[in-house]
Amino acid sequence: MNNSSTYDLIVIGSGILGTFHALHAARLGKKVLLTEKDQYPISATVRNFGQVVTSGMSSDWLPYAIRTAELYKEIQQEFDISVRNNGSVYLASDPEELQLAHELKERMDTFGYQAELLSAKDCLAKWPALNGQYCKGGIFFPQELSVEPDKLIYRLIKYAIAKYPQLTYKPATAVVDCEVIGDHVEVTTSTKQKFTADKVVICNGGEYKLLFADHFKNSGIILCKLQMMRTVPMPEVQLEGNILTGLSIRRYESFQECPSFAKLTTPEHYAELKKWGVHILFKKAVDGSIIIGDSHEYADVNHSDDLSFDINNHINQLMLKEAQNIVGFDVSKIASTWAGVYPQHNSKHVVELDVESRIHIRTAIGGKGMTCAGGYAEASIHGIYN
Ligand SMILES: Cc1cc2nc3c(=O)[nH]c(=O)nc-3n(C[C@H](O)[C@H](O)[C@H](O)COP(=O)(O)OP(=O)(O)OC[C@H]3O[C@@H](n4cnc5c(N)ncnc54)[C@H](O)[C@@H]3O)c2cc1C
Repeated sequence: MNNSSTYDLIVIGSGILGTFHALHAARLGKKVLLTEKDQYPISATVRNFGQVVTSGMSSDWLPYAIRTAELYKEIQQEFDISVRNNGSVYLASDPEELQLAHELKERMDTFGYQAELLSAKDCLAKWPALNGQYCKGGIFFPQELSVEPDKLIYRLIKYAIAKYPQLTYKPATAVVDCEVIGDHVEVTTSTKQKFTADKVVICNGGEYKLLFADHFKNSGIILCKLQMMRTVPMPEVQLEGNILTGLSIRRYESFQECPSFAKLTTPEHYAELKKWGVHILFKKAVDGSIIIGDSHEYADVNHSDDLSFDINNHINQLMLKEAQNIVGFDVSKIASTWAGVYPQHNSKHVVELDVESRIHIRTAIGGKGMTCAGGYAEASIHGIYN
């Protein structure tokens, strides 16, 4: 196609999922337009931890996570998109969590995915900021990556448009209509600009009011609000990599596939934390600040406005109290706190809706977009162009 406002593919939404769809289509030689309603992405893709925790995925999505990590590493060699390789550790705080760590090691060995069991002493030697009372041992994945959520997407978009001249990016371009007309799709923006393409991919994240609202009403999508905190910079604190803890072992999909998971009991001191969906993760950013989170509150797609806009201080205090059990430095030195929302589906890894064979909606990748979007989007684009 030659006309300047006519494309092979228009991708709506430049979070991690939309940007990787646009990048993979450009890699196939397609002429692509990537649009973003905001001045720059400000949704889940920039509000997260930036933990690329391949080891947390269920076995059916492990290949997408492995491929995503490969893509991050490959791109990082060409352009600094903020990828670091400091590994991921899950710290066990009691015998049940430790048992699950051992069982995950056995499962990972069958996949040939590198994992190391660590004693409590090993953990304390590697991460001196930990509290010896908490840590009973852990499982470590030395090959795993992290990214900086406040940098990655902006750099990835910059890389993609520089590398693929046939990829155009239009921020501050909200799409409000998308319609199949004959053998193409016409897209209309809020400023009444029109673009046409053979196909459209919509990666709208948690925005379900602007396009195809009717399709989402009965989609089973649930919105999840998470509270997060960031400490002041503490470069002296030795806590590198993705630090996941006992409550994460009790939550992540990979552990759910272990034999002992079904027999897991909930200790009394976890009850209030579980009520708010709290599990404690730490991620030290490049500036030495430490991101601490998170909690989970849910609302179905038709009642997403019921997720309050405020930060619940009770939840933050609960998280800080548990965090202080885990580490020795003072976690109360909080510089900022925020909430993020992601959509998910209780029985699907991602929601795929295809409208009249030319419009492909890809949304609700849940809490694993930073870990799986690259590999999943590659398969999605190849499926659309097969
Ligand atoms: C607090 C928090 C912590 C997390 N931690 C992790 C983690 O450590 N590791 C991990 O793997 N995952 C994590 N996640 C999940 C991850 O952030 C998400 O899965 C991922 O960012 C979803 O990407 P997305 O592109 O689908 O959505 P989004 O990031 O929401 O992007 C969608 C984009 O589409 C745009 N858009 C929507 N509608 C339109 C329209 N009509 N026109 C134009 N533009 C439009 C939006 O403005 C937005 O920029 C976390 C999420 C949160 C909230």
